[in-house]
Amino acid sequence: MSKYDVAVIGSGPGGYVAAIRCAQLGLKTAIIEKYNVLGGTCLNVGCIPSKALLDSSHHYEDAIKHFEEHGIEIPGDVKLNFKKMIARKAAVVEQTTKGIDYLMDKNKIDVYTGTGAFKDATHIVISGEKEQTIEAKNTIIATGSKPSSLPFIKLDKERVITSTEALSLNEVPKHLVVIGGGVIGLELGQVYRRLGAEVSVVEYMDRIIPTMDGGQSKELLKVMKKQGVKFYLSHKVSAVSKKGKEVTITATDKKDEEVTLKGDYCLVSVGRKPFTDGLKAENAGIKVTERGMIDVNDQLQTNIKNIYAIGDVVRGAMLAHKASEEGTLVAEIIAGQKPHINYNLIPGVVYTWPEVASVGKTEEQLKEAKVEYKSGQFPMRALGRSRASGDLDGFVKILSDKKTDEVLGVHMVGARVADLIAEAVVAMEYRASAEDIARMSHAHPTYAEAVKEAALAATENRPLHI
Ligand code: FAD
Ligand code: NAD
Repeated sequence: MSKYDVAVIGSGPGGYVAAIRCAQLGLKTAIIEKYNVLGGTCLNVGCIPSKALLDSSHHYEDAIKHFEEHGIEIPGDVKLNFKKMIARKAAVVEQTTKGIDYLMDKNKIDVYTGTGAFKDATHIVISGEKEQTIEAKNTIIATGSKPSSLPFIKLDKERVITSTEALSLNEVPKHLVVIGGGVIGLELGQVYRRLGAEVSVVEYMDRIIPTMDGGQSKELLKVMKKQGVKFYLSHKVSAVSKKGKEVTITATDKKDEEVTLKGDYCLVSVGRKPFTDGLKAENAGIKVTERGMIDVNDQLQTNIKNIYAIGDVVRGAMLAHKASEEGTLVAEIIAGQKPHINYNLIPGVVYTWPEVASVGKTEEQLKEAKVEYKSGQFPMRALGRSRASGDLDGFVKILSDKKTDEVLGVHMVGARVADLIAEAVVAMEYRASAEDIARMSHAHPTYAEAVKEAALAATENRPLHI
């Protein structure tokens, strides 16, 4: 029987990063993945394919809507080859997952294909083509999550679909009804809107991306409405039925008035749930919460001392970079180090266009905690860079402590803010004040100048360009 210092179950961005870090620290490491492709949700049916389709559909939209204003004329009609777009996405995924094979090989990590199930706290049975048992001093559970749904919805995965199917459709929907105006619904809704679909989003709360800063919800709603997406906010879906190629979605508004929407596809994107099926956690005595999450302490250790859990299967944001940070943390703890994660500084990004990015506390959270703060905001449209590219929507907002000026939250909507948020993370990690950011030189012309201007506005209410 093969023996390891660490066995990692699951090869998503939590698991594969944990395995690499363990190997770097000299620990003999195995990784177990039930699919024959590594990379988990993120690489196969999450972050990477959704961003590939967002980029492709953005190019298409530019070609049909914006090229002309830049003086680019295309003789004849621009044609969409959707099958090719999907094939390109698949190629991007394949290249990326092959990269993980290379990394496992380079770091001398043993890869097992098959479902990993606990026999006891130190033995894992792997049921793949052949059944094998390995022994591990420590195990890291990184089994991720799966889409959740509503109890009355029957996901047939053809017309009533999750994000997984929405990333590999055979045709552009005529009318895509999206249930849930969160990250997945808006990213994939925007992809299909750009490609010509009618898109309707039904959201239970009174705003989209409800966990982000209210200003961001408002701005993105305004822009996406302009792009032609229809929104039904404060609507509770009560029934979804399918007849042939037609899906009927019934929802009620706050006044209990019924709305019926008919589409050819319905994307259910109401969140994801932790995944532990087949793991047989009970054989090792591991505590799983009522909601199916693996229960962990602040060292990500389960109630069984030598077993840890990370990523989507534990509490916290379901984000790839959060899972990876946790993978690194656990590997370092096992190796005897004392690492830490500042969960307040895990950024959140929505890759619509304009992009939406956030770190730290929202205005709503500061108000609720009764923290006195200053707010400085700068509109993207006042930047030379935005006028040059034509990306005028959005803003940067910096929230800082009223007395000390320490930056408490940064919230952005605009072109490339997914990349700009890194500046805010660095600043907050070093506990910068808004004035610190305001006094740093930002290259001109860049979108980053909006960060400096918002910091000037937060510091002394003296932005330079508005
Ligand atoms: P996962 O990536 O889910 O990996 C878990 C792995 O464990 C899977 O490969 C699974 O097959 C395997 N597994 C499960 N049980 C067993 C078992 N018993 N034995 C062996 N293997 C097992 N996050 C971002 O940060 N940015 C984004 O842009 C982003 N976009 C997304 C887009 C979509 C459409 C979706 C669905 C998600 C997106 N996410 C994004 C979220 C991100 O994908 C997850 O947060 C991330 O993948 C979680 O990583 P993980 O390692 O915890 O689990
Ligand atoms: P989400 O939590 O972002 O959004 C779900 C939305 O559905 C919420 O707005 C919620 O209010 C709404 N909702 C819930 N029940 C409803 C109901 N009955 N009727 C109508 N609306 C309802 O979840 P998601 O968009 O499914 O994404 C799942 C996870 O994947 C998220 O945790 C997210 O972090 C991750 N993800 C991240 C990215 C990214 O980082 N860019 C992209 C995609 C997914």
